[in-house]
Amino acid sequence: MDTPSPVTPVTVREVGLRDGLQSIARTLPTAHKLDWLRAAHAAGQREIEVGSFVPARLLPQLADTAELVAVARTLPGLVTSVLVPNLKGAQAALDSGADAMLLPLSASHAHSLANLRKTPDEVVAEIGRIRALRDSSGSCCLIEVGLSTAFGCTIQGRVDETEVLRLLQAVLDAGAERVGLADTVGYADPLQVGRLFERAFKVAGDRLACGHFHDTRGLGLANVFAAWQVGVRRFDACLAGIGGCPHAPGASGNVATEDVAYLFASMGVPTGLDFDALIALRSQVVQWLAGEATHGAIARAGLPKTMKEAA
Ligand code: ZN
Repeated sequence: MDTPSPVTPVTVREVGLRDGLQSIARTLPTAHKLDWLRAAHAAGQREIEVGSFVPARLLPQLADTAELVAVARTLPGLVTSVLVPNLKGAQAALDSGADAMLLPLSASHAHSLANLRKTPDEVVAEIGRIRALRDSSGSCCLIEVGLSTAFGCTIQGRVDETEVLRLLQAVLDAGAERVGLADTVGYADPLQVGRLFERAFKVAGDRLACGHFHDTRGLGLANVFAAWQVGVRRFDACLAGIGGCPHAPGASGNVATEDVAYLFASMGVPTGLDFDALIALRSQVVQWLAGEATHGAIARAGLPKTMKEAA
């Protein structure tokens, strides 16, 4: 007798505490961030990016990252990740005891030069040095690379897919254990997303494990769905859709955690997230960030009557 195969769950990694807050000028007090962290965990989130090890003079909003990691490590079953821009940041991540470090690499040469004053291949070389540092430290902190501007760039415009795939192979060769593709500027369309992820799976196999989409032009959830259809089961999202676009003031930011959770729940795909808890936390975060642009359809409309329970 055939038994229906269980639907593979989807992981929604919360990046609001890093991606979201870094693009907001005000600094959320550490106590509020810790409340957010604990409430997100209580709502079922099991992967949270809590901050970034960049110099505090560049991003004072994230200067308390080590403190957040220390508390996050006490939450059962939580995978704590931090963003790391270079070798020095990687050392700080290792010292903090984070479970994973996310290293950004821009697929656009123009973007990479403008933001880091390094070519993508110079960043790949730094990733190799970070892998060597991690190995020699004896830590098992996972190294994940997020390939940003993979679907287009505000400076360069079109980004060649073969260049994205070449860089993907290069970072895997340099020692990345997990890779993802990111549309940080909201240029991607769903057909492009499906096509590029399919090609990227041929390069990276199951090490390709993250989709990062922004809703800048209204295609965020469509792009999440397109990536899911070709096998992606892990997505970044920000509660209340914070983290707008620096090139389009007021524009939507990252896809909203609660809307991504709803997308999957509506299709019967488990995410382990508790909607009531997420929406309550969202209200709190929106209050803390009063005056900042926030987004999200479920927060406005509520869940439909037909949905009996959160997946
Ligand atoms: Zn983002």
